[in-house]
Amino acid sequence: MSNVKKVFISADIEGVNNIVSWDETELKDSEYTYFRKQMTEEVKRACIACHEAGVEEIFVKDAHDYARNIIFSELPSYVKLHRGWEGGPCSMMAGLDSSFDCVMFIGYHSPSKSDGNPLAHTMNTRINYVKINGEIASEFLINSLYASYLGVPIAFLSGDENMTKLAKQANPNIKTVATKVGSHGAVISEHPEVTNKRIEEQVKLALEGDLSQNIVLLPKKIEIEVDYKTHKEAYSASFFPGCKLKTSSSIEFKTNDYAKAIVMMKFTL
Ligand SMILES: [Zn+2]
Repeated sequence: MSNVKKVFISADIEGVNNIVSWDETELKDSEYTYFRKQMTEEVKRACIACHEAGVEEIFVKDAHDYARNIIFSELPSYVKLHRGWEGGPCSMMAGLDSSFDCVMFIGYHSPSKSDGNPLAHTMNTRINYVKINGEIASEFLINSLYASYLGVPIAFLSGDENMTKLAKQANPNIKTVATKVGSHGAVISEHPEVTNKRIEEQVKLALEGDLSQNIVLLPKKIEIEVDYKTHKEAYSASFFPGCKLKTSSSIEFKTNDYAKAIVMMKFTL
């Protein structure tokens, strides 16, 4: 039995097994039905593993697009689901507070500018990239730093192979499962059942360890740079308090307070 009693799961779709095209991520597309089921199944396996390890509360944040993807009736009855968007800066992490013992990420994907996943992006497709202290930031990084701000460790991540490597770089103690390998415009995956089983096993393993070493380091000084696809968007974002134009298509923002950083990103990404 694990000491972990309360788990927060943030779930996206672009990093689930075998998904390769934008159509497959969209609510109104026929291909989507299959992949929302796969997203639900990957979340379900993580929940089952948590429950078997003795976790008492499992809170799942549906965090893709409209945040109405997970088929709730297919999740176990002990799970709580957060659906839709609150409109606040916590975004994909809405519902997380310092009472949680750890965070898990399911279906996460490589950041913008990366060739690790044909669906690579960070937060939206209007930007070329967002950098935190000079490094291209993934949604995993943005969300993990928020967890660190609250003092909550990261136990597990599943997603494309490149994303799992980035998670290990951020903290080698995070347990990961690669759901597919990006190959330029394509993906190579094992059978979904192989991935699902692996998620279950690795989540179980993640909960056996001491999670106190699983905090992703939150830098004291935070410098954010956002590069937009259009210069007009950068100009507009540069009016957010504390932001200034860096180039005609990018803005910068400096702070010592990550709470301010997530508000800035809410209004500029
Ligand atoms: Zn998504």
